[in-house]
Amino acid sequence: MTFLRPNIAAMSGYVPGFQPDDIASWIKLNTNENPYPPSPKVVEAILAEVGSDGASLRAYPSASSQRLREVAGELYGFDPSWIIMANGSDEVLNNLIRACAGEGQEVGYVHPSYSYYSTLAEIQGAVVCTYGLSEAFKIEAFPEYFNGKVFFLTTPNSPLGFSFAPAYIEELAQNCGGLLVIDEAYADFADWNALELVKKYENVVVTRTFSKSYALAGMRLGLAIARPGIIAALDKIRDHYNLDRLAQAACVAALQDQPYFRESCRRIVETRTWFSGELAAIGYTVIPSQANFVFASPPDKNGKRVYDGLYERKILVRLLSDPLLAHGLRISIGTREEMETTLAALKELG
Ligand code: PMP
Repeated sequence: MTFLRPNIAAMSGYVPGFQPDDIASWIKLNTNENPYPPSPKVVEAILAEVGSDGASLRAYPSASSQRLREVAGELYGFDPSWIIMANGSDEVLNNLIRACAGEGQEVGYVHPSYSYYSTLAEIQGAVVCTYGLSEAFKIEAFPEYFNGKVFFLTTPNSPLGFSFAPAYIEELAQNCGGLLVIDEAYADFADWNALELVKKYENVVVTRTFSKSYALAGMRLGLAIARPGIIAALDKIRDHYNLDRLAQAACVAALQDQPYFRESCRRIVETRTWFSGELAAIGYTVIPSQANFVFASPPDKNGKRVYDGLYERKILVRLLSDPLLAHGLRISIGTREEMETTLAALKELG
């Protein structure tokens, strides 16, 4: 395979969470999807966009997704020039690395967090540096001044669910010589977010996804908020029609139906609080979560045993391959009913 770049030949590639074919027969709590459907207005908007004969699909979509930048900008309090839309936040994470880190240059992130950053950096030929976590959920050995090109901070953290404290994130922004990408995939379930830091620090970028809180994982939608200079660079390197027509129509409708969105998030947070309490009551160690999942460890610290027991009962959760995380499981928050069934199974499994 001499025609491949050596780093591509050597890398193993990212393995996404398992998506079973017979999805309806599972309680699926392994990829942090939303258990509720998107707003009915999203479905209406998609149908209206397709029309009765699909004629609209003949034409390319808006290349810039301009209307979406305007709607999102108004919602988050930024000029549209500070916003770029993405085909899933994965796309914009990729483009941030492509824009900033060349071959041999450093890309850093916290371990454990989203290991896809590593895959993206490897594709680029960048050097990946990971930084561990202290007991107090601070980054261990974060340099006095980070000299790499990009540092990814996942907050709320996945798979652990905690959020970094706002003052601590600000400190990191000040000590980061490269771009600080704050991946807020789960921020809509949290008590705080870092949007204000984008206004305050020129090296801060916030990314968001519509896959979790807006229940649109199947449409592939995300965005980034940053200074116009960074957005302009990202615009140069993205696919020119990165969002299809249906995704754009769906996204506008989702953002405009804030009451539905807020209620969906509220229910998930309510179920998360209840489920976390129940887990603690049966002897599990639960990290207080700010996301739509919890990381929990059974009393015997054997994540695999519980994973297998749940799997036999057609309940799918996430067992992470890292030995550091073998003591527990990441469990997405489903409907109250799904979590009651899961809790009953966990009680049986002991
Ligand atoms: N960041 C984090 C921390 C995630 O967990 C995920 C979803 N796996 C993503 C980004 C990517 O989300 P999207 O579906 O928008 O590509």
